[in-house]
Formats: sequence, structure tokens, C-alpha cells
Amino acid sequence: MPSRAEDDELLLRLRHFQSDYFPLHQQRFQDLVDQGQHPKTLFIGCSDSRLVPYLLTGAGPGELFIVRNVGALVPPYDGSRGLHGTMAAVEYAVLALKVERIIVCGHSHCGAIRACYEGVPDEARALKSWLELAQDAVLPVQACPEACRRTEERSIVLQLERLMEYPMVRREVEAGHLTLHGWHYVIEDGAVHVFDAQQGAFVPVASSTHTGTGPYVPYVEHDGQILTD
Ligand SMILES: [Zn+2]
Repeated sequence: MPSRAEDDELLLRLRHFQSDYFPLHQQRFQDLVDQGQHPKTLFIGCSDSRLVPYLLTGAGPGELFIVRNVGALVPPYDGSRGLHGTMAAVEYAVLALKVERIIVCGHSHCGAIRACYEGVPDEARALKSWLELAQDAVLPVQACPEACRRTEERSIVLQLERLMEYPMVRREVEAGHLTLHGWHYVIEDGAVHVFDAQQGAFVPVASSTHTGTGPYVPYVEHDGQILTD
């Protein structure tokens, strides 16, 4: 630990936030205290440090309800994985905050997905067990960049499908109040590719007309319209 405050970079950054950033946004934070938070988006993202949800979405305080874990994985709702914060976050976001969309965001060069092929240290028992949540996305091939990329995408769709097993998620999606979005962020390109259920593929946002239509066709739009083709 640094012995002098001036040498503690994190301490200096905390001071900088309060003295330089906060005054510019103080009213916004006060409003969020007075009126409470009303984020429209639950963002389920991988813990990877290179994935920065606020940069990708341009969101500010109060806009994203975020839960992150290794691999952006969603445990099954049947309770078979024991107590889990990601399940609690989904319940809270849907039932209390009444978010309008859930994004599952994976990314390129994901260490969690690579570990599904290469294994983890024996001591990492929780990690080994946790990664089983991506196992159905793993391909019967040797690990290579292409296989990992496809597995990253397949895992995102798998998690969207698992979200639909949450009763409150399915209910709100079918009622047209909630949409699910699968995103694959390609770090080296600065590009998010969104899952298009009708194409059965991830489409770069540069050429997509939407932010994702996972996981199923037909898909119920916000206005209740059902798209079938
Ligand atoms: Zn990752």
C-alpha cells in the first residue's frame, strides 16, 4: 500500500471524482436521490475489464442497472445453482424496477469462454462449476480463435434462452413490456454485433436496424405487434 496519499493513484482518482466530475453533475445525482432510480435497462455483462458498458451505450448515472459476472452467464431459475446474485438482480430489475429491456453482453477474447476449452486451475472450484452454464455453447472442436468466437456468440443466445425460463421475464416479454437483446462486443473493432433472431446471426450495429431481437421468433414488439417473418 502506498505510504503517501499522493502516491495512491486510486485515492487521487476518488478525490478527482468528487472535486471535478461531481460538481458538473450534482443536480442529476440529487434528482436520482430525490426521485429514486428508474433505469430502463438491465445490463448483464461479462466482468472483463475491457467491456465498459457506459462507454458502449453512452449511458450516464441512473440509466443502467448492471450485474456482471464471469462470462455474462445466467443461472437456471430452478435454484439448482444455489443462491445467486445474478438471479436476484434479474428479479429485482424486472419486478421492482420494471426495466424495459435486458441486454446480455459478451465479447471477443473472453477468458471465460476460452476456459471452457482449456480448463481452469484445480483450486478454482466455483469457477469450474460456474462455467458449466456455458457448456451447451461449446463446440466439439479444438480451441481456436474461430471456435471461441462462435462459442462466445452461442453462449449469449444460450443465456437469453435461459432468461426466458424466468417466469417474470417470460411473462413480461410475452406481454410486450420487455425485450431481450444479445450483444457481442468485438473489442478490437469497437463494434457491437447484435443477435437477430430472424437471421439466426449476430449483425454489426453499423448495418443493423435494431439493437437485438433475441431470443425467439415470433417476437412481440413494444406496441404488441407480433413479427413472424
Ligand atoms: Zn469475458
